[in-house]
Amino acid sequence: MVSDMLNVYLVRLRASCARWTVPDRYIYEPANQLNLITTSVIQAYASVNCTSDPGSGKPGFFPEKTTVTAPVVPKPERRIDRLSVTKEIPGSPRTPRQMITSRARFFYKGHRFREYSRMRQDMSQQLGGQQVIILRQGTTRSRGEEAQGNNIAAARAVATSVRSTLGPKGMDKMLIDGMGDITITNDGATILQQMDIEHPAAKMMVEIAKTQDKEVGDGTTSAVVLAGELLNNAGRLLDQKIHPTVIAEGYRQASVKSLELLAAMAVPVKPDDHAMLRQVAATAISGKGAEAYKDLLCGLVVSAITKVADPDGTVDIRHVNVQKKVGGKIEDTELIDGMVIDKERAHSGMPKTVKNARILLLNAALEYKKTEVSAKINISRPDQVRAFIDEDEQMIHNMADTAIGTGANVLFCQKGIDDVAQHYLAKAGILAVRRVKKSDMESLARATGAAIVNSPDSATPADLGSAGLVEEKKLSGGEMIYVSHCRNPKAVSLIIRGGSEHIIDDLERAIHDALMVTSVVVQDRNIVSGGGAPEIELSLQLHRYAATAGGRVQLAIEAFAKALEVIPRALAENAGLDSIDMIVAIRAAHEAGKKTYGLDVFIGKPVDMQKAGVIEPLKVKTQAITSATEAAVMILRIDDVIASSRSAGAPGGMPPGGMGGMPPGMGDY
Ligand code: ADP
Ligand code: MG
Repeated sequence: MVSDMLNVYLVRLRASCARWTVPDRYIYEPANQLNLITTSVIQAYASVNCTSDPGSGKPGFFPEKTTVTAPVVPKPERRIDRLSVTKEIPGSPRTPRQMITSRARFFYKGHRFREYSRMRQDMSQQLGGQQVIILRQGTTRSRGEEAQGNNIAAARAVATSVRSTLGPKGMDKMLIDGMGDITITNDGATILQQMDIEHPAAKMMVEIAKTQDKEVGDGTTSAVVLAGELLNNAGRLLDQKIHPTVIAEGYRQASVKSLELLAAMAVPVKPDDHAMLRQVAATAISGKGAEAYKDLLCGLVVSAITKVADPDGTVDIRHVNVQKKVGGKIEDTELIDGMVIDKERAHSGMPKTVKNARILLLNAALEYKKTEVSAKINISRPDQVRAFIDEDEQMIHNMADTAIGTGANVLFCQKGIDDVAQHYLAKAGILAVRRVKKSDMESLARATGAAIVNSPDSATPADLGSAGLVEEKKLSGGEMIYVSHCRNPKAVSLIIRGGSEHIIDDLERAIHDALMVTSVVVQDRNIVSGGGAPEIELSLQLHRYAATAGGRVQLAIEAFAKALEVIPRALAENAGLDSIDMIVAIRAAHEAGKKTYGLDVFIGKPVDMQKAGVIEPLKVKTQAITSATEAAVMILRIDDVIASSRSAGAPGGMPPGGMGGMPPGMGDY
């Protein structure tokens, strides 16, 4: 009890004792402590003075003049806020903690309201005192130098992240995705695709890598690193108050001039020059895990491409069917004519070998169809059960018969084949394979000339494809189906072997790059040197060109020329060499007329790249320069970034419903 007490004078308190109860919901409210004390005092008195009314004789509490002691209490302040009272659940009083959090939220809301008001005020000031709100609450905005600075920084961060992987001495990266799957790679496009990039400008850099990969299959890291350096140099020009559109214009002119200069530098090759093609493939896979086996792999890649190339030089690399099979050694990787499918016969009673195969490709299940609605069948007699099963079996039998009726002796099915159907197919001497991948079905269609049919009923003999031999063979303890002597002689398969899935995956990416660059050279028939030679040559010539441009654009062209040096610089850095010494040495060689001199990262000095066999398709360089320039220009021209609030944790924007950061269960009012 509080020490300081006071006399309370109660005059004719006209309340019945029974009515004085303490409301439950106030009990836990600290602010009501005072009400509680007062009430208890009254109750205490009531219990003492509860007598009958002197006049009426009714029971009640009628002290004429009573003196009691009670704590000193200021006038009870009503501090029960709206939240704690209205959310009262009868019978489950709130804990003090709950009430504290309720209040915290109340103040938090107040704070947010103030923030919002300030934003409105800012905007109205911008609009000359008029209150016009054009953006949704939660929208964030950065503009002018701030926006440019952020975008350039983000794009450069992406470029820096892949820079260490450039070149034959580049390092690999280990990427772990949300599911815990690991990818170990040196390939720029793969690294950027797997990195969960959020910043919009950084995403544009990822796009460059994707485009480069799709168009030419190689030069992804180079393109991104070049774009990063172009933006870096642009940042310096912006600091000197050169307008972004001037920089953009200079970069565009420099890019166009570069393509011209590159075309003049290019060396034509014959598509049947296998030695040259092998060097192109080898340059593409240098620095990747597969490099140690480059003689074997490049040989296979060049054979594959020359087999599938048309006489006019067009190449569809989809004709090269790449299959991965874990087991064996990398040296066991082989190229075979025809198709290989990593599957086995559906039933052991089916033939292992079929000569003069007539092939049906079916994209439908030879199985019971499960009904989509749940139906209930009442069966009262055993013969009804029999009839029911027989009916199902008959259905499958009919489907199998229809497939057999097409005249096929080999069936590749994209879906499942029921045991009963397998039995009938085996009986008819058909080699059937089930659950074939869609991509394999498409390759089979290209190789054998078959059409993929959606139901056995719709199949006609014209839909069947043909192959000289279909057989099941063992490979590394597993069975594979080999389809050889196909109707389309171009079909070839590359079976990649290796000790583990990660090795095989990395090998597959390297082989994809090699296949792509070889096919690009077979089609485009032009090559340039590698090892930074074309970049240094371009840089020197662009410096000369800049002098003719005049005006501020000249500065931008010079910045572009300087940015190209980032490729040899990164190659030198990654090889542990002094980048300044190396660039000076290569530049000196070029000025002396040795235009194909690039950096030999193994001996650390400039050498003739044509002699060293480090050559790349012209198209890889032109594509890299074009897409890097486009991305840099696009990022430079942005002066305002308006980001609307996103549904989940967007950077800068308000999280969903504006309640971000609140612990769960806080949104209950
Ligand atoms: P990208 O994803 O850009 O293809 P790479 O890691 O494959 O990145 O590196 C390509 C760069 O390495 C090219 O500039 C190429 O000329 C250079 N390069 C490749 N092989 C050699 C080599 N043996 N010596 C010097 N430079 C090489
Ligand atoms: Mg490469």
